[in-house]
Amino acid sequence: MNSLTSILSHREREHEIKRFMAPFAEQHNGQDKMRRAFVRLTLLLACARAAVSCSTPTRESVRDIALTRISIQQGVELTLMQDAHEITPPYAAPIAGRSGVLHVEFEALFTGTHDVTAVLELDNAGGTSTKELVRKVYRSNLAQSVNFELAASDLQETTSFRVRFVNTEGASSGEGAPAEYPPTTAPSASLKVQKSGSLRIKLIPVRYDYDGSGRVADSGPVHVEELRTRFLDLYPVTSVAITVGEPLPWSKNLSPNGDGHDDLLDAIVALRAQERPEDDVYYLGLFATTATYAGYCGKKCTTGLSLRVKHASQAESRASVAVGYAETRTMDTSLHEIGHAHGREHAPCGVTSSDAAYPHEKARLGSQGYSASTKVFYDPALNYDFMSYCDPAWVSDYTFGALLTRVQEVAALSVPQQGLRLPRQMRMLQARPHGTSKWGPKLPLAQAPTGDPISIDATAPDGLKTIVVGYKYSYQDRTGGYALIPSDDVKNKTVTLDFDGAKITLDREN
Ligand SMILES: [Zn+2]
Repeated sequence: MNSLTSILSHREREHEIKRFMAPFAEQHNGQDKMRRAFVRLTLLLACARAAVSCSTPTRESVRDIALTRISIQQGVELTLMQDAHEITPPYAAPIAGRSGVLHVEFEALFTGTHDVTAVLELDNAGGTSTKELVRKVYRSNLAQSVNFELAASDLQETTSFRVRFVNTEGASSGEGAPAEYPPTTAPSASLKVQKSGSLRIKLIPVRYDYDGSGRVADSGPVHVEELRTRFLDLYPVTSVAITVGEPLPWSKNLSPNGDGHDDLLDAIVALRAQERPEDDVYYLGLFATTATYAGYCGKKCTTGLSLRVKHASQAESRASVAVGYAETRTMDTSLHEIGHAHGREHAPCGVTSSDAAYPHEKARLGSQGYSASTKVFYDPALNYDFMSYCDPAWVSDYTFGALLTRVQEVAALSVPQQGLRLPRQMRMLQARPHGTSKWGPKLPLAQAPTGDPISIDATAPDGLKTIVVGYKYSYQDRTGGYALIPSDDVKNKTVTLDFDGAKITLDREN
């Protein structure tokens, strides 16, 4: 059918009627009652014509409850409405395809008790879905609230919503403004949902041969699932996939003071380059040098290392190392290091230097935390952002939003045509403080290097000098890093360079 009536959706028709009624909205009580009766009649007629279920509009919103605040929870709390005003959350946005909670705070203006039904309407491309919660509400000075659980499929990029309170027993009550947001005279409110992406991690369990133990970090299915759940709770993504690689034999020392972690990280970078995964895969080397975490870490220790990854395009730098013990409290090191690999700096608690833009004092969360896996809420005054060194850890609204931006940027990178890219052979130069720099492995780089260009003086055996361009990669929590240099440019040459202020000279490599 092509008639105008048949192609107008039920919702559009409802809006037409509400637009027509809007000028009457400010009139006083007597006229107001007539108006309400007229609206009810008009809606009933509209519903009869529409041949769709239309029961909701016939239940008028109560007028003796005031909606004071509405927020959404998908890991961090984002306020959407405060005292009838729309709020745009400053740091993050609701995410499509991620479960959560819609939280509604209200105040009862009556005496006694009412049986009230809170109604959440969600408008999606496929139509309107409704969730209802029945509550016995009484006058109280305490904040009262209802929580609507949101399934991942409830939130799409176009989703808008409306919250209304109706009396469970039928007719409206009270004389104030209707308990609805936005008012039924206005279109439903956009949730401004954003598309996110998935997090893909390849876990490399390190086999520690230095002390002869051959101890392999915990990468069993139970620990991997715990790690996956923790990432999914705290990272603003729609899924987390963790694969486990072959154990990496490691015969060098890995000290609790951080010595040797840089060499291991460089090896993970080289492994990633050799394996040529897709651009969005994060490599995570897990090590356990002792039987228990307590045996590794006394009062203070270094639990991981990552590169300083400034841009989403730096795929070859998506590598980190962290302690990997069965004890779940050590898992947050992995979240912290992969946070650095997402470009995150430290949050200001327990660290020597931190992100100057971090908005909350002492690495506080800024808003309430929420675990989708356990349905537990986290007090923003008692928890710290996981990019700090303070415990207990959750994620702040600021970090959640910044991670979301990086996830979106990584998802937007063009999908590489692996077979069509010709890798270029690069030589790693491991830049270390105190004159301990050395040549690292050769590795094939399937994309243009994204490190900061660095000028290198190269001298051939016959004394001929050339200037070679290398690419610099610095560590996040440690001085030094490495440079990648085209292998042919430095073959059989002595090189001199300045790496973050340190003068480095290395003899010929072969
Ligand atoms: Zn750190």
